[in-house]
Amino acid sequence: TAIMEKILWRRSLQLHAQQQAWQESLEGRGILEFRQSLPAYKEKDAILTAILQNQVLIISGETGCGKTTQIPQFILESEIDFVRGAVCNIICTQPRRISAMSVSERVASERGEKLGESVGYKVRLEGMRGKETRLLFCTTGILLRRLLIDRNLKGVTHIIVDEIHERGINEDFLLIVLKDLLPRRPELKLILMSASLDAELFSSYFGGAPLIHIPGFTHPVRIHFLENILEMMGYRLTPYNQIDDYGQERMWKMSKQAPRKRKSQIASAVEDALRAADFKDFSPQTWESLSCWNPDCIGFNLIEYLLSYICENERPGAVLVFVTGWDDISSLKDKLQSHPILGDPNRVSLLTCHGFLASSEQKLIFEEPKDGVRKIVLTTNIAETSITINDVVFVLDCGKAKETSYDALNNTPCLLPSWISKVSAQQRRGRAGRVEPGECYHLYPRCVYDAFAEYQLPEILRTPLQSLCLQIKSLKLESISEFLSRALQSPELLAVQNAVEYLKIIGALDESENLTILGRYLTMLPMEPKLGKMLILGAILNCLDPVLTVVAGLSVRDPFLTPLDKKDLAETAKLQFSRDYSDHLALVRAYEGWKEAEKDLAGYDYCWKNFLSAQSMKAIDSLRVEFLSLLKGTGLIDGNATSCNTWSYDQHLIRAIICYGLYPGICSVVHNEKSFSLKTMEDGPVLLYSNSVNARESRIPYPWLVFNEKIKVNSIFLRDSTAVSDSVLLLFGGSISRGNVDGHLKMLGGYLEFFMQPAIAEKFQSLRREFDELIQN
Ligand code: ADP
Ligand code: MG
Repeated sequence: TAIMEKILWRRSLQLHAQQQAWQESLEGRGILEFRQSLPAYKEKDAILTAILQNQVLIISGETGCGKTTQIPQFILESEIDFVRGAVCNIICTQPRRISAMSVSERVASERGEKLGESVGYKVRLEGMRGKETRLLFCTTGILLRRLLIDRNLKGVTHIIVDEIHERGINEDFLLIVLKDLLPRRPELKLILMSASLDAELFSSYFGGAPLIHIPGFTHPVRIHFLENILEMMGYRLTPYNQIDDYGQERMWKMSKQAPRKRKSQIASAVEDALRAADFKDFSPQTWESLSCWNPDCIGFNLIEYLLSYICENERPGAVLVFVTGWDDISSLKDKLQSHPILGDPNRVSLLTCHGFLASSEQKLIFEEPKDGVRKIVLTTNIAETSITINDVVFVLDCGKAKETSYDALNNTPCLLPSWISKVSAQQRRGRAGRVEPGECYHLYPRCVYDAFAEYQLPEILRTPLQSLCLQIKSLKLESISEFLSRALQSPELLAVQNAVEYLKIIGALDESENLTILGRYLTMLPMEPKLGKMLILGAILNCLDPVLTVVAGLSVRDPFLTPLDKKDLAETAKLQFSRDYSDHLALVRAYEGWKEAEKDLAGYDYCWKNFLSAQSMKAIDSLRVEFLSLLKGTGLIDGNATSCNTWSYDQHLIRAIICYGLYPGICSVVHNEKSFSLKTMEDGPVLLYSNSVNARESRIPYPWLVFNEKIKVNSIFLRDSTAVSDSVLLLFGGSISRGNVDGHLKMLGGYLEFFMQPAIAEKFQSLRREFDELIQN
C-alpha cells in the first residue's frame, strides 16, 4: 500500500501540473474567462467550503448559470489542486443520456482534454471513460445499477445528483438509497442540484442540509398567448361576456379585423379549425381536442406561420420550438423543410435537439449561425432545463410534453403527450431572455395556461410502480412498501400494492415477495415487465425476430396512422397486413415489408402508401438493435444472435409469447348471431378501438383476446389485441408456479409437441422445469 500511495501521489502531482499548464495556456485562459462570466463561478468558493464542511449540500440556480458544467469541475479542480487528483472519484448523474454525453464532452473540452481522459461518460450500452477518469457523467440508471453490485460505492468520493427538480422516478429512488448509504460512508459527499427554488424539500429530507442559491439574471420576456397570436394574424378573439353580458363564462367571439396583411393559407386553416370548434366553449377541453399534434394539425400550422412571420419581420436571434417528442420533431422538420423560407438553408438553419441525436449535430445547436441565417431549433422538453442554447430570443411553446422523457426503455412507453405545468411553461419562457429581451409564443389560449397545474406531480406519484418495485427487490432491500414509505413523497399504498400484486400475477415475485428467476432476469431488462417477459421467452424459444418487432412496436407511437379525414382508407390499409386476428402480427408484417422496401430505398413510399409512420418504423428499427444487445447482456442469448430465430415464422409460437407478456390483459370473446362482444373480468363489456384489425371481423375463431392497453373514454376501449386459444392462455398466461406445476407441464409438453418440433418442446420443458424448481426453492 505504501508503494500504491506513492504512485497515486506522483500521479496527482502530474495532474496538478497538467491542469496548471492548461489554465496558463492561451486557449485555456480564454475558456477560463468564459467560465468566470457564468454566475456559478462567483459562488465557487462558497460552494467548495460548504462541501468541505457538510456531507450533503443542495445547490439551486437558474438554468444556464453553470451548475452542470461548472460545479463538478470545481470539485475536480480543487481535488487536483490539493494533490488528491488521482484519488478522487466524482460521479455526476443526469436524467437523460443526451445530457450525460453532451455535458461530459463540454467539460472535457473546457479542460483542454479529450473525452475519456479525466472526464468521461457512461450511459446504457455506450460510454467513454478510461483508467484515469476521475469525473464521470452517467445516467441515473447507471448509478443505480452500480449500486446493485457495489452497495457501498467503494472508492467514490463525491456524488452529484443533477436536475433533482424534475423529480423523475429514478432520481427519487436513488435519493432513498443514498440517504441510507450516507451513514455507512461518512466521508462520501453528496451534492444535489436543482433548477428551481423549491429546494427546501430536499434540504429537510436530508436533515436540514445547507442550501446555496446561485443568483441569475434574465431579461424580460414578452408573452403572447393564442389570442394575441390570432390577433397578429388578423383576428380578434375576445371573451363574449365582455361585449354583451350573457352571464356565461368562456363565451368567445372571433371577429375579423381588416386583415393587416394578405391572409395566408395557414391563417385560414387555423380559422377553419377554430370555427369547427364552434367557439362557444373555448375551454381547455375544446383546445385539447383541437390541438392534437400531427403534421396537418392546427398546432403545426401555427408553428409554421409564426416561424415564417419571425423570419420575415423580426430582429435577429435564434428560435427555440418546444414540441412533445422526437417523432413530432421529425415530422415537423419534414413539414418545414418544404416551406420556401424555412426550408432555405441560406436563410434558416433548421436544427433538432433530442435524445437520439448524433453528437456532430448536437454541437451545431450551440454554434452561431452564419450571418443572415436564422437558427431554429426544434426540441423536446430537454431544452427546458438540461441544455442551454445561448442565443435564443424567441420561444414557441406547444404547451405539451410527454410525461416521461424520450427514452422508452427507462420509462413507461406509449405515454401520450399531456399538458405541462405552469413552472415548466415559465422555464420555457425563460429560455428567450438570456441575451436580450425576448418573446415567447404560447400556442394555446390564456385560459388553458390558467388551468395548468402549478407543479408537475413527481413521477413516482403518477406512473405504475412495477419496474421500480422490481428494482427495489433486486437491491435486496426490505419490504417494498416500507422502502417506498421513506421516499421524498411516498406513493399511495394502493399503488404499491397494485404493482406488487401485478408482479406476483406475472410470476416475477413469489408469494412472499421475493424475486423469482424470471424476476431476476426482468431486472436486467430496463423496460416494462410485460415487454421484458416477451423478450425473454422469445429468446428461450428461438423466436426472437418477430418478438423484437412486437416489443419495439409497443415502445413507440402507434406506427399505423389514422388521419381523421382518411380514417376508412387507413384502416383498410392496415387490414392487408392482417391474416390472423392480431394487431401485433400485423405490425410484424408491416415492419418486414418496410424493411424489404428500405433495401430499395423505397421505405418512405411504402409508408406513405400503407398509412404507416416512417418515424415509428425507424424507431422500431433502432430499438430492435438496442433490445437485442440488452438480451445479450442477460446471457440468455449468445453473441451470435442469428441462432435465435429457428422458430421465427411459427405464428402459434409468436401468439403464445405475446400472451405470455400481455397476461393478465385478457378478455373473452362471446359470439352471437351476427358478430361478437367482449368482456373482461374487471370491467364487464369492453370495445375494440376502431383501428384494431379485430374490430373489422365479424367472427373471431378464438375464445380470447390478449391486449396491451385499456383506455377509458366513455366506454372502455382496448387498443392492440391478439386472439389466442384456450391452450395458449392456459399454458402461457400467468405464472406456472402459482398453479399445478405437473399438470401444466404435461399439457405444455403435449401442446408444444403438437404444434412444434419435439426437440424444442423438450428443451423448453426442461428449462421450464428448472425454472420452477428454482422458484420453488
Ligand atoms: P446549468 O446546468 O446551470 O443549466 P450549464 O452548466 O449546463 O448550466 O451551462 C452553463 C453555460 O455553459 C450555458 O449558459 C452555455 O452557455 C454553456 N454551455 C454549456 N454546454 C455547452 C456546449 N456544449 N457548448 C457551448 N456552450 C455550452
Ligand atoms: Mg444543468
